[in-house]
Amino acid sequence: MNMKKKEINCPEEEIEFKFLPHKKRSLMLSESLYRLHLENRSLRVKECGTFIEMRKYDKKYIAEGEREWKLSTANFCRDRLCSMCNWRRSLKIFGQVSKIMDNIPDSYRFIFLTLTVKNCKGSELKYTVRHLLSSFKKMANYKPFKQVFKGYFRTLECTHNHIENSYHPHLHVILAVNKSYFKSKNYISHSKFVEMWQKALKISYEPQVNIQKIKDERHMVAEVAKYAVKSDDYIIEDNLEYTDEIVMNFIIGMSNVRLIAYGGIFNEVRKKLDLDDAENGDLVHVNNDTLRSDVSYMVYNFHWSSGIRNYTLKKEMVYNVQIECDEDN
Ligand SMILES: [Zn+2]
Repeated sequence: MNMKKKEINCPEEEIEFKFLPHKKRSLMLSESLYRLHLENRSLRVKECGTFIEMRKYDKKYIAEGEREWKLSTANFCRDRLCSMCNWRRSLKIFGQVSKIMDNIPDSYRFIFLTLTVKNCKGSELKYTVRHLLSSFKKMANYKPFKQVFKGYFRTLECTHNHIENSYHPHLHVILAVNKSYFKSKNYISHSKFVEMWQKALKISYEPQVNIQKIKDERHMVAEVAKYAVKSDDYIIEDNLEYTDEIVMNFIIGMSNVRLIAYGGIFNEVRKKLDLDDAENGDLVHVNNDTLRSDVSYMVYNFHWSSGIRNYTLKKEMVYNVQIECDEDN
């Protein structure tokens, strides 16, 4: 389902190659929730993205490098496991974190950190996820950590190993450091990191820690802005019973925890930029798009048809003649 490489040239293509695959995955989740007797939740997910409206503007109203069309309305369910909503959330997180990093002063550098624990069973996921998050908080308060790291952005991700039937919750973290960090006496080596993480987790084995200096910021932000849970991890197409078991474990394990968190300089810049909550906020205007209503545009209304399991399209031109005349005068 990797559609990232496909170039999208019009609203119809965005529906076909982006929205439609997610809509189909969300319907599979809805069916699983129904089988699990979570009827209300199932219905909410089933309704996700049944109505999508886009506006297409004339080129002259569009800034260089921007798309001519923008999403203006949609009914997203916001379910934590929904494929459609996770895609929207990841676009939003990508946009916000990129913007924050663009606004962090040049004197900072970034490090990409992955913190893991051993895979766990489904029944242990809830405890393991909470333990992971509280251990990160604890480590962020250790003196050597606080001395050098000026801020962080972290996300929680959990994957599932279908063969072993085990769960792998882990954290992706971007850390901000001063330019001088790499040559400073307070530099934290990989082994020191492992030691700190092990101490925070209070475990007897050495946990896996991955550290990378960030050279390609966009690439790293994309890594961090990945989905908390990917639909491929819980939808086993030829095994409904297994699907339902994993869905239930993810529901129990991943509820009531913050999927993302900001600290230090990341949080300061986020507040200054007045960005809304990427986790619970608006999933329609994920790029901070401004929708102009003072000029003419074409409205694209896509409605989900459960009969043909696809979207149907109605187009309509909206003229805002009066104001355009004013501009000409
Ligand atoms: Zn949804």
